[in-house]
Amino acid sequence: MTEKVTIIGSGPAGWTAAIYAARAELQPVVYEGAETEENRLKGTLPLGQLSQTTEVENFPGFPAGDMTAYLDSSIDEQKRRYMAPHAKHGVSGPELMELMRQQATNFGARIVTDDIVEIDVSARPFRMRTLSGSEIQSHAVIIATGARANYLGLESEERFKNMGVSACAVCDGALPRFRNHPVVVVGGGDSAMEEATFLTKFASVVYIVHRRDSFRASRIMSERALNNPKIQVKWNSVIDEVLGDETQGVTGVRIRSSEDPTATEILPATGYFAAIGHTPNTEFLKGQLQTNDKGYLVWTTAHRTMTSVEGIFAAGDVADDYYRQAITAAGTGCMSALDAERWLAAQGIE
Ligand code: NAP
Repeated sequence: MTEKVTIIGSGPAGWTAAIYAARAELQPVVYEGAETEENRLKGTLPLGQLSQTTEVENFPGFPAGDMTAYLDSSIDEQKRRYMAPHAKHGVSGPELMELMRQQATNFGARIVTDDIVEIDVSARPFRMRTLSGSEIQSHAVIIATGARANYLGLESEERFKNMGVSACAVCDGALPRFRNHPVVVVGGGDSAMEEATFLTKFASVVYIVHRRDSFRASRIMSERALNNPKIQVKWNSVIDEVLGDETQGVTGVRIRSSEDPTATEILPATGYFAAIGHTPNTEFLKGQLQTNDKGYLVWTTAHRTMTSVEGIFAAGDVADDYYRQAITAAGTGCMSALDAERWLAAQGIE
């Protein structure tokens, strides 16, 4: 059997593409990823990066707090009678992803819990192989495999993920555990500057730990951070270990001078934010699609989701090294399904 459209990836881009493709009667199949230990360690399990976060406060339609109370206070009783009961809290990342998955299923999307490990982009229809060894064929393919945050690779980072270790200040920075406490950001690029500056809204002090004596970040972003009285930079320093325990989570970090390896210092902190870049999940493509110099897939037509191979579309963070938000991923997921639908129709495949 040849699929009309195969969606690879199960974050907001993948599910939104699936919802739109299913409603267009394209009977999409979604390869949501395999539940392997390797994927867990890499941060590429099914449901993507959002499934590894806690509260989501910036996805429109899901205000944080008591949703029932919001609806009670803002919508008149007549209308409320027709609404389903809502949660007593906002939405969490895992909940949001399960809801999107369910929404795609409700419209008829089929889901396979497996990785696509190989694709032959020269064949028509495209040929793919899964981790479990199945061979599949598809006329159109939407790649929505996302990107993963880079961590230093310390065992202690892994231990305290969701207990003070994060790679997304915008997602997690406002959580109570960071309010009025010191936090640490590692990195020297624009992300580190942005995350550190953002975190000063909540934290008492933000330490930027950077391995060199100058930032890679743009001048304007560096200066904004350097001029912020709540930010202290630890130059020429590397993270030795994230400190903490099972009940409190992160309690600090031990840093080591990159010039004098015997010199260490402990910074007390309730949070540790890695801002050392992201890696797009494109390994399975083996260089067959055009990427930018950072390895992200390139849209070859402005404001359209076409890639360098006709019939293959890209959506979400795998093609976005700039915005990287759930809502922008969902938006481009929708675009990719519409682009695929029109392309299939033009090929006479309906
Ligand atoms: P980036 O520019 O690649 O910077 C990564 C930083 O992490 C560098 O300072 C690097 O140090 C450090 N780093 C990498 N590996 C490390 C390791 N193993 N140990 C210690 N430090 C390590 O990544 P980014 O900051 O995420 O930015 C990505 C892109 O998005 C950039 O083009 C950036 O301009 C853009 N961006 C723009 C904005 C904005 O304009 N508002 C905001 C965020 C990101 P070295 O400098 O020593 O290599």
